[in-house]
Amino acid sequence: MNQPQMNQPPQPPVTSNSNPQWQKVCAFLRNECGDDVFNSWFARLTFVAIDNGKVQFHVSSDFVRDWIISHYQDRLLTSWQMVESSVQEIVVDVVSHAVGETDNGVGNGAGTPGVDSSADDDLGSSLRLDTRFTFGNFVVGKSNELAFAAAQRVADLATPHASYNPLFLYGGVGLGKTHLMHAIAWHIKSQHKKNVLYMTAEKFMYQFILALRYKSALDFKKKFRSVDVLMVDDFQFISKAEATQEEFFHTFNSLVDDNRQIVISADKSPDSLEGVEERLRSRLGAGMVAYIDPASYELRLGILESKVSQMTTPIPRKVLEFIARRITSNVRVLEGALNRLVAYASLVNKPICEDVAYEALQDLLLDSAKRVSVESIQKMVCQHYNVKLSEMSSPRRAREVVRPRQIAMFLAKEMTTRSLPDIGRRFGKRDHTTVLHAIRKVEDLSRQDPSIREDIMILRRRLGG
Ligand code: ADP
Ligand code: MG
Repeated sequence: MNQPQMNQPPQPPVTSNSNPQWQKVCAFLRNECGDDVFNSWFARLTFVAIDNGKVQFHVSSDFVRDWIISHYQDRLLTSWQMVESSVQEIVVDVVSHAVGETDNGVGNGAGTPGVDSSADDDLGSSLRLDTRFTFGNFVVGKSNELAFAAAQRVADLATPHASYNPLFLYGGVGLGKTHLMHAIAWHIKSQHKKNVLYMTAEKFMYQFILALRYKSALDFKKKFRSVDVLMVDDFQFISKAEATQEEFFHTFNSLVDDNRQIVISADKSPDSLEGVEERLRSRLGAGMVAYIDPASYELRLGILESKVSQMTTPIPRKVLEFIARRITSNVRVLEGALNRLVAYASLVNKPICEDVAYEALQDLLLDSAKRVSVESIQKMVCQHYNVKLSEMSSPRRAREVVRPRQIAMFLAKEMTTRSLPDIGRRFGKRDHTTVLHAIRKVEDLSRQDPSIREDIMILRRRLGG
């Protein structure tokens, strides 16, 4: 425990968070609810005893108890029942010295695993950096290679080059934007010992409003304008309020003029950011703009393999292929599926195989299965380009139908679990090599032509991807 007492040997914990059943429940809850919720609430529970169908916990305050009871009691109970079917009731008592407050005693031990709590030592307002989000842990594929290369270049700070300032990373949710930003920050902090200020757009706004309220606008300006590297994540959440954007605009200009690096992420390209003033949008797009696309099957499999190589549980390749095939939405969901599978298998005490994966991930699989069909993709693409649905299967090779057809094939491969021959059949009995050619073509085009990229993003979004 992290509160050693003076002149006494370290005391064993009064209660036992190391109860193996509670450990299993914890692993499951962590995967189900995510690290944030787990660390905020469940980690504060101190396991006391399990007796006669009753599981007893201590917490250190009324507030924590009330919150857990009102929000998580059912989940806690059902998780326990999976491990120990005789459990009927959860009891949480308030004890002023419950250990959970200072040392959660579960999972990786004290504190929040994976989060570096010393990261904000240099600048009070910087957000914490996740220790797992490094370049080394980032798996590169076609969909993210541009963003990865640009991020590395910026992190090297070797040639403070106007063409990389700002670096603007954009892409859908869960595709690795925050990961790359943290990787840049880690690299710069460790290799260059520079002042990095990493925050979300929301935090920027919040600080600005506070500064106005407490009339410390000058300190605010000074702080922001003294950093070497300013990173703002999730820029789409910047307030539409003129004053905030104005302040950001000036901060931005002053840093760039001073050759400091700026890195921004958002879910859209600078041009498409709604509610952002034109002059700011054009500033944001004036450096290096790099997108991240949804991961292909190969990249999804690569990411799973890389995660598994860091885990102690071996997972058969067939199972990884199954997950990579069936979970297509984003990397966060993909990772969650893998963690859930491991927790589930240990909970039900079965070796990991395809059947167990199917059981563990049923709801996620349903989600992605009902998501899109090739037909709905064809319809949406035809609507977008104003061509007849019959052109998807027609032999016509005029440019105005070929392009939409290729884009529809590309999206069909990306958003459904159909094989290439299967997709070909649905486009007027075309050969799988034609589909492959279409996919490559669209990949190339979207690299060169921002308007095609924009079209694809819009279509994806409309299709719910
Ligand atoms: P975003 O900020 O774009 O919503 P994140 O950066 O938070 O997404 O990524 C979501 C999760 O997926 C994180 O755990 C991240 O480590 C992981 N991830 C995303 N892309 C990759 C990748 N290419 N290689 C390894 N992990 C990845
Ligand atoms: Mg993010």
